[in-house]
Amino acid sequence: MAQVSLKNISKVFPGNIYAIKDINLGIESKEFVVFVGPSGCGKSTTLRIIAGLEDATEGQVYIGDQLVNNVPPKDRDIAMVFQNYALYPHMTVYENMAFGLRLRKYPKAEIEARVQEAASILGIEKLLHRKPRELSGGQMQRVAVGRAIVRKPLVFLFDEPLSNLDAKMRVLMRTEIKKLHMRLQTTMIYVTHDQIEAMTMGSRIVVMKDGLIQQIADPITLFDKPVNKFVAGFIGSPPMNFVKGPVIKKDGKLYFNEGTFQVKIIDAMAKVMAPYFGKEVIFGIRPEDIYDKLFVSEAPPENTIKATCEVIEPMGSEAYIYLNTGKNSLVAKVGGHDKPAINQDMDLVLDMSKVHFFDKDTDITII
Ligand code: ATP
Repeated sequence: MAQVSLKNISKVFPGNIYAIKDINLGIESKEFVVFVGPSGCGKSTTLRIIAGLEDATEGQVYIGDQLVNNVPPKDRDIAMVFQNYALYPHMTVYENMAFGLRLRKYPKAEIEARVQEAASILGIEKLLHRKPRELSGGQMQRVAVGRAIVRKPLVFLFDEPLSNLDAKMRVLMRTEIKKLHMRLQTTMIYVTHDQIEAMTMGSRIVVMKDGLIQQIADPITLFDKPVNKFVAGFIGSPPMNFVKGPVIKKDGKLYFNEGTFQVKIIDAMAKVMAPYFGKEVIFGIRPEDIYDKLFVSEAPPENTIKATCEVIEPMGSEAYIYLNTGKNSLVAKVGGHDKPAINQDMDLVLDMSKVHFFDKDTDITII
């Protein structure tokens, strides 16, 4: 069994730097879990503690049923793939992949069989005699993954393994790693600061900030039901729009008042929002939930707003329109065929069933 559990893990570096604080997490056998968060949030430290490359200041790490706090990395039955690949430059691809098995005194035939099998999975059979300097970034990445595969570990750990690749190769390798996960059926823990990588690869995602876990959920739950403003803004591209303003009443109904526009809070949210009447809240709406009125058949006045188009970014199938309401900036994600003129005033329809509200003081999601 290859489940990994972290119980009350904290890490304090000299100088009283809290890298991670009281991390509790259970990873199931065969799961693909991604740690994501901005630089310095503690994701690599967490991974390195699982690998045994760093000691936890407090807490316990279990791999399977075994408490591994005092087990050295080489005896943990894990394999780690690093951002810089860490290949030995003087060894061939074959020797790089065989090295760990040789150290562990595997029989020659077994080494040969495992290296050939891994090379065939990764499509690098023809590169086995080359040295790392004779490989492209993507090929080096494959060799680094191959070196992990030959070990047949209980758990694979990946620390930003694709960040040195160009954008196209990153997309290719991320599907290859996903396929590899399906084929090997092994627990994988993957660290990245890239929310798209996290969303596309992880069956569960752990969002971290300032050494703390913010939310653990599958990609769709994170997107639809973020627990706070940080997660709401971190997941999704372009990020969610946030606007501060009070909840007011018009004709007995609750509205959010941005200052230049007021939009009606839908009945299904009214009960939860009622205690906020007269108070400021943070209103959040994703760019894809703002529509150009020209392309919408129904545009009720209570969720239609005016804004000026300042910049358009055509992306082909879609376009990002940067808007100014006179008080706030907003981004809308519209169809690629929508081409408003710069400085044109636009009527925009907000899908009020998709909006989010956050507490102004705590940033915690209200609804
Ligand atoms: P990145 O995406 O930039 O790699 P990260 O989320 O992986 O960031 P960590 O490398 O885990 O973050 O670092 C978490 C915090 O701990 C940071 O504030 C970092 O400066 C600090 N830190 C990490 N390693 C050490 C160390 N050896 N000594 C002191 N502080 C450290």
